[in-house]
Amino acid sequence: MLNIVITGAPGSGKGTQSELIEKEYNLFHISTGDMLRAEIKAGSEIGKKAESIIAEGKLVPDEVMIAMLRKQVLDHKDACGFIFDGFPRTVVQAEELDEMLAELNAKVDVLLCMEVAHETLVERLLNRGKTSGRADDNLETIEKRLAVYTENTLPVIEFYKKSGRFSKADNNSTVENCFDQIKNIINAHI
Ligand code: AMP
Repeated sequence: MLNIVITGAPGSGKGTQSELIEKEYNLFHISTGDMLRAEIKAGSEIGKKAESIIAEGKLVPDEVMIAMLRKQVLDHKDACGFIFDGFPRTVVQAEELDEMLAELNAKVDVLLCMEVAHETLVERLLNRGKTSGRADDNLETIEKRLAVYTENTLPVIEFYKKSGRFSKADNNSTVENCFDQIKNIINAHI
């Protein structure tokens, strides 16, 4: 199994790069943001709880996310591996992910951190907001999401650094340029 976590601030291109990685390495793509948006659309209990949290740019509670992720992983445990997009966002989630994969005799092989300048993130998210229909792609929520990322998710990066699983890709230029860097990183792990 090859398991990759992709992280980076909102607007850093995680979704786009995850789709390319999924195809190139035949991994199962788990986007917790997409899963939550599907729950909202379906009008489920989780969706109802998550809707306002997402619109405010805050994080959905760990226990909800961990249960959701566990189910998705177990339902697809025969996959060649996973690309985790948007999870873990807290250290508690990162620890749980390690435990979950250990139960499958697997591990997170590498954390890919997408690096993009702050102004570019805001610009890309505002542009995306024109067509995405996402309640959280507006200036106020964008700034909030960036602050939440710094507070909760930067410690996740430290967690992977400590265990020697951190790598970074510069995504200030083109999609292709970033994907070339990512392929070099992943190929060094397989
Ligand atoms: P994303 O599509 O990854 O930008 O996620 C959109 C929103 O969903 C985030 O701003 C959070 O409110 C929520 N969310 C997604 N993944 C997680 C997670 N792993 N933990 C907590 N909240 C999450």
